[in-house]
Amino acid sequence: MAKEQQNDSQLQNILAGSCPTSLLLQPLPVGQPPVTLHWEVSMDRIRPFVPEIFNNLHALSHPGVRASLEMVAERYVWPSMRQIVGLWASTCLQCQRAKVSRHTRSEIGKFEQPSSRFEHVHIDLVGFLSPSEGFRYCLICVDQFSKWPETFPL
Ligand SMILES: [Zn+2]
Repeated sequence: MAKEQQNDSQLQNILAGSCPTSLLLQPLPVGQPPVTLHWEVSMDRIRPFVPEIFNNLHALSHPGVRASLEMVAERYVWPSMRQIVGLWASTCLQCQRAKVSRHTRSEIGKFEQPSSRFEHVHIDLVGFLSPSEGFRYCLICVDQFSKWPETFPL
């Protein structure tokens, strides 16, 4: 994560003063042996600045804490990952703005098992997400037979 922070252009722009922000960032050591992470320190509790690579994972579908942790743990590991990812997923502004605490429950749809690939493809539109290269939505298609997923930025 420390390495990704160093490679994160947004963070480097903020640190260089070329990107206006209300974030109050401070480098602090973490772990053993200690590495330096940049933390946001203006609130009651300090929060790690999450490099874009991790945001991109979460921004795919804005999953909750457990699913975010699974997504990250599939690809990365670092000390205190559980706490950091939990904090990061639970403090995502877009999640807080968009997620409702009361859900309408629908019956689970029943689909006949297809006998070949691409006979039945499920699609879903996810968004809107924080813009990336001009894209704000994600079209997700899953072939029911093979479970093959494809995603398209829109
Ligand atoms: Zn989110």
